[in-house]
Amino acid sequence: MPVLYRALQGFSDILPEEQPYWRFFENVASHVAELYGYQRIETPTLEETAVYLRTAGAGTDIVEKEMYTFEDRADKEGNRTSLTLRPEGTAGVVRAYLEHGLFKLPQPVKLYYMSTPIFRHDKPQAGRYREHHQFGCEALGDSDPAVDAEMISLLYQVYTELGLRDIHLQINSIGDQNCRPQYIERLREYYRPLLNECCDDCQMRFEKNPLRLLDCKEPQDQAKIAAAPKIVDFLCGPCREHFDALQHYLTLYEVPCTLNPLLVRGLDYYTRTVFEFAAGEDKLALGGGGRYDGLAEILGGNPTPGIGFGAGVERIIRAMKRQGITPPPPEKPCAFVVYLARTPELKDEVVKLVAQLRHAGIKTEMSYGDRSAKAQMKQANASGATYAVLVGANELANGFVSVRTLQGTIDEEHKQVEVKPENLIAYLTGG
Ligand code: AMP
Repeated sequence: MPVLYRALQGFSDILPEEQPYWRFFENVASHVAELYGYQRIETPTLEETAVYLRTAGAGTDIVEKEMYTFEDRADKEGNRTSLTLRPEGTAGVVRAYLEHGLFKLPQPVKLYYMSTPIFRHDKPQAGRYREHHQFGCEALGDSDPAVDAEMISLLYQVYTELGLRDIHLQINSIGDQNCRPQYIERLREYYRPLLNECCDDCQMRFEKNPLRLLDCKEPQDQAKIAAAPKIVDFLCGPCREHFDALQHYLTLYEVPCTLNPLLVRGLDYYTRTVFEFAAGEDKLALGGGGRYDGLAEILGGNPTPGIGFGAGVERIIRAMKRQGITPPPPEKPCAFVVYLARTPELKDEVVKLVAQLRHAGIKTEMSYGDRSAKAQMKQANASGATYAVLVGANELANGFVSVRTLQGTIDEEHKQVEVKPENLIAYLTGG
């Protein structure tokens, strides 16, 4: 049959066979986040475009090329608001923190979001989608580098608890409003005479977002990047201290890391700490983030330090598969109820029995339609159920059902016993 409709390019269905990976990841990540004192938050998929325009900043790829932005339908006055599908997780969380007065709570406020959809009009390729999902954390209201180290350690623990090996962490400090301007000036001086040899994107970055010059992936620009002045050499006293303390705390958390003076982040609002994780030889990041002490102010709040990360769920699952990590399999049914005759009365009894078992919390299956008892037994075996519960008119009239063990030790398998319906739950649960 020809397929009439397909999911959009860069958008994916997450089919049942994939779900065990997602559940495993979500269980591990939320467990670790809560272990570190983070509480869950979810914010809307749509925000006013201004929330992202003002925070992500002009000249970033996200704002320039990747946002899904459209005009809303007109309100009663005929005004239309520009809306954007969430292109990153942090701005919405900070907006919610300000809107709901979370700054009145004891600080820092530590929040996480789980498998949150993110939309970017990227060029689709392996590991890069137009809709992907992120697990992210944000800690607002404290600039202590111990908060930075804790957050990085949290993400590292998620990766290790998933069983991932060969995880690399890179960190850097990109300074703050005191020291970064001098560095940017130096960087511009360095690039000015080289500009006509740079790629088109770098020409634009030079004007709008010079720090991102260091992020260019074009082969022609790599030698220039390697020889460029490094921001770590320009950090002011407080930024230097913060960065040193971060590294010290990371050693206390026993999180191995490398300093990468070229690491910058795609968004304008980052200050000081930036970090990125990858697995093995894979160039695609498994997660990354940084400190954004200026962001709350941009959104109209009081100056509020903050730090956060986003980790791509699809990328993490991809790394798990590459490393042969399999999630716990989905739970098999405990019971599969088979009806031995195809009469409406018996079917009623079977549906009633299935309902009772499910209400008692026992995972139960039955077959539907007009299948023979033999075909139903085949289904029962294929389902992986531990027991088949055979219900026949004569048996019921005599006050019992037959329970056949399908999965168990060699002694138990194929064992068939007669059980009174009122004792069935106890029998199936081993009581
Ligand atoms: P970013 O907000 O760009 O730092 O992204 C955070 C994390 O999300 C990255 O480290 C990746 O793991 C993941 N990610 C970013 N963009 C994509 C994408 N287009 N497709 C899949 N995963 C992505």
